[in-house]
Amino acid sequence: TILADQIAAGEVVERPASVVKELLENALDAHATQIDILLEEAGVKSIQIVDNGDGIDSEDVPVAFRRHATSKIHDRQDLFKIRTLGFRGEALPSIASVADVRLVTSTGAGAGDELHISGGEIKEQKSAAARKGTDITVSDLFFNTPARLKYLRSQATELSKIVDIVNRLAMSYPDVTFHLSHNGKDLLRTAGNGDLKQVFADVYGIQNARKMLAINGSDNDFTIDGYVSLPELTRASREYISVLINGRYIKNFAITKALIKGYGSKLMVGRFPMAVINIKMDPLLVDVNVHPTKQEVRLSKEAELAELLTRLVSEKLGSINL
Ligand code: ADP
Ligand code: MG
Repeated sequence: TILADQIAAGEVVERPASVVKELLENALDAHATQIDILLEEAGVKSIQIVDNGDGIDSEDVPVAFRRHATSKIHDRQDLFKIRTLGFRGEALPSIASVADVRLVTSTGAGAGDELHISGGEIKEQKSAAARKGTDITVSDLFFNTPARLKYLRSQATELSKIVDIVNRLAMSYPDVTFHLSHNGKDLLRTAGNGDLKQVFADVYGIQNARKMLAINGSDNDFTIDGYVSLPELTRASREYISVLINGRYIKNFAITKALIKGYGSKLMVGRFPMAVINIKMDPLLVDVNVHPTKQEVRLSKEAELAELLTRLVSEKLGSINL
């Protein structure tokens, strides 16, 4: 029912950034290599996401908007082995229950399909010419749940939350071209050529490649690859440090702290580096079930990993003349 979808939406769709996250994950799950994200008014007025992925079969289009209609594997243990991001089949029905949604999709075989669904009610469905991929526009978010609208912060805050999600996904998928614009103004464009260093630079606007250091190393359990900024390129918060585990963005305080520790006394008090660190490990060492939505994960052998990371960063910084 629409009410059930609206209740589920309370968990899945908190703000425009949650819509962007769910739609981007769907595009990535559908093997898109090019994703455009076009926002109006911090996504409250509209969020359009265009991907060149697999598209949705005609008969599956209305089904995708039904609850628990995921076409993906369910096993949570597999979450870190497979790259599938969605697993609940709740995002599309939830979003459609609290917004106006227009979807145009094509698998590349035969005609495409267009669906208009508003406040959970299907308004129109027809075939339509379309390129392979999916083009989804979510407008007037929370138009029928004013209490939720009231909880939104300023446009600047809502926009920064969206940018944060796009940035982290762009760094998790350096092979994918991301283009983000807001009110017609370009905010990010990545090359999609697999070069993580370039994505890191694009995301944080680092002009000089020499201000980033490659961090690489491994032990029996972990392989670390990433980039950190020189101590002179800092920010006032830890938010510019991204830790990826097996290519997925996660939150883990101990690992972030270990990276900062590697800088020793080279950082001014209250200043933090920019960094992206990808850690490859046996998925069995990761417990994803701690907080699936908050992205916090618990790791076995966390202390060993922390020590390795601190050492790699500190050796790298020590090896160059600052
Ligand atoms: P989940 O991602 O958990 O499966 P969603 O509600 O996010 O659930 O999506 C429902 C289904 O719609 C997906 O399982 C997928 O089959 C299809 N789908 C959604 N977005 C896209 C997209 N951009 N490209 C291809 N298929 C999509
Ligand atoms: Mg999904």
